[in-house]
Amino acid sequence: MGGKTRKLSEKRIVVATHNPGKLREINDLLAPYGLEAVSAGEFGLPEPVEDGLTFGANARIKAHAAAQGSGLPALADDSGLAVDALGGAPGIYSARWGGEGKDFGLAMRRVEDELQQAGAVLPEQRGARFVCALCLAWPDGHDELFEGTVSGHIVWPPRGTNGFGYDPIFVSKGRDISFGEMDPDEKHGLSHRADAFRQLTEACF
Ligand code: IMP
Repeated sequence: MGGKTRKLSEKRIVVATHNPGKLREINDLLAPYGLEAVSAGEFGLPEPVEDGLTFGANARIKAHAAAQGSGLPALADDSGLAVDALGGAPGIYSARWGGEGKDFGLAMRRVEDELQQAGAVLPEQRGARFVCALCLAWPDGHDELFEGTVSGHIVWPPRGTNGFGYDPIFVSKGRDISFGEMDPDEKHGLSHRADAFRQLTEACF
């Protein structure tokens, strides 16, 4: 980064995710800006190895790989759930906790089991946040990086069938329904991805 923030002048961008839940949310967020979003999958781009140690590092890896592979600006999201009592786990390994079968029932159960082992039973002991790093990278190697968060706590058992991933066990601050019970429009207004998006659009659009 460094220097002046670069504005996006192109109308077509690649969304560097192979996750259908995230692609849907990112498309919804991009729609008001009249941008045509093509997924990395539609472009036949391979998934790069995400070996960064932070959300930001992994977002950069994905955005640069897609920008290089497509010749278009590319937007990548790296996100996950960080639980305070678990030292920030699952964190950058949020997707991996779902295992090969991407079973988030299993991943949510593991969060709960580890909270129980840590003796975290009261809501104030079960603090957590979703984090979203967004990287917009250009084919010439320039990028802009933003990080959004939403704070809340973990509930058990899972509630609701909306959203994806860990949504059914996350209740954001000041609310009493989980992201899994929330209307998608409402989640889009207050999520970590919305927060990062606001920063991106203010800086680059
Ligand atoms: P990534 O594709 O490596 O960024 O994986 C992020 C993982 O974090 C996803 O597979 C989800 O399990 C979880 N995650 C990220 N954002 C959300 C969200 O908005 N709701 C629920 N889970 C999320």
